[in-house]
Amino acid sequence: MKRLPWREIYDALTVAPSGITGLGLFAGTRIPARAKIGEFEGEVIGLREARRRAKGRRIVAIVELERHAIDATDTGRGFRFINHSCEPNTYIRCTRDRAEFYALRNIAPGTEITADYGETQHDGKLRCRCGAKRCRGAI
Ligand SMILES: [Zn+2]
Repeated sequence: MKRLPWREIYDALTVAPSGITGLGLFAGTRIPARAKIGEFEGEVIGLREARRRAKGRRIVAIVELERHAIDATDTGRGFRFINHSCEPNTYIRCTRDRAEFYALRNIAPGTEITADYGETQHDGKLRCRCGAKRCRGAI
């Protein structure tokens, strides 16, 4: 099977009502396992500013990296719409200045893209609605 460059996969992603909560991100093409799907895009801010902004927000679209954070709140599309699942189909690989998304398995077009948020600003206080069999119950 021909491997799509990640930009093609990324540009084909669509935002639509989620099966989990709010809006979600959906595959527009077939995505092969281990393929790069894209990168988290947004405003680059300091870590202290990231924590200040995250306080009191119900939906946090900020990824913290080693020396700075990326705030995707004002971007109209992309990975800020990705919902958490305890059994996700993608994983986030953080480098020093980028947060990249990769497919954990083959993803069919129209499938909702999910990621395991891991440690979040919610500190496990938000109820998880992912519906996975092994759901941890909170984010
Ligand atoms: Zn869950």
